[in-house]
Amino acid sequence: MNYKTHVLSGLLVGGIFLLKEADPQIYLLPASAVGALIPDIDEPQSYAGRKIKVVSKMIKSVFGHRGITHSFLGMGIISLLIYFLLDYFNLSFKILTMFNLGYLSHLLTDLITKAGVPLLYPYKKKIRIPLIRTGGKLEFVFRTIVSAALLFIAIEYLDITHFTGL
Ligand SMILES: [Zn+2]
Repeated sequence: MNYKTHVLSGLLVGGIFLLKEADPQIYLLPASAVGALIPDIDEPQSYAGRKIKVVSKMIKSVFGHRGITHSFLGMGIISLLIYFLLDYFNLSFKILTMFNLGYLSHLLTDLITKAGVPLLYPYKKKIRIPLIRTGGKLEFVFRTIVSAALLFIAIEYLDITHFTGL
């Protein structure tokens, strides 16, 4: 999937999670967007990969694109690193929850593409429900639906904050 689709899906999943809270901490939402971008650091040409090209090239040469970063194992390792960083800087662990929701949304949206994802890495078989081709018309339709849902969530959020007088 395109990075825009990933970011929007990450924001949607994170947004739905936050809306369930009595006092939605909407400022944590960018963590979901970052989480939704991180798995593609294994591709130097991707939006995330271009930001840290050296690291990206290293990961790709060792694990390949849609390798370990597109698995639960990769998600666990990165989560652990973030956990220690949050602990060190005394920051809220909720950032990690939001990050992981975005990360999961990436894995799930890549799972419905023809290429699939090796969710159970190091078992390398790619798991896929091939509904959408990356960059195809259906991805555009999917992204539009996600955007509409996100708009709905934003309106809901404004409603909550309006009624609680925040
Ligand atoms: Zn991906």
